[in-house]
Amino acid sequence: MPHKVQAVVVRAMNGPLSLETILVPDPGPGEALVDILTCGVCHTDLHYQKGGISDNYPFLLGHEATGVVAELVITTRFCSATRPPASSRRSVMMSPMWWWGIGSS
Ligand SMILES: [Zn+2]
Repeated sequence: MPHKVQAVVVRAMNGPLSLETILVPDPGPGEALVDILTCGVCHTDLHYQKGGISDNYPFLLGHEATGVVAELVITTRFCSATRPPASSRRSVMMSPMWWWGIGSS
């Protein structure tokens, strides 16, 4: 079920910032849902507002956040070059290697 959260958004180049309610989907495999406690807005966000990084508006600003993990979707990934031998595969596949997937898409 999507989560309603507040976000600082800029919708056009040099446009004003607005505080909006947006929907965040449930996390997928390898993703975490984080309850944000604080979030900084820095000079990079100013560049987004001014069109200095991209003109693909709208942008959700603020990338320096702290929070608490509220939900975590555990995944297991293997690289074929480092895949363990079949004799040990079962125990390795049971390992919660979720930290590899955090923040990746
Ligand atoms: Zn920053």
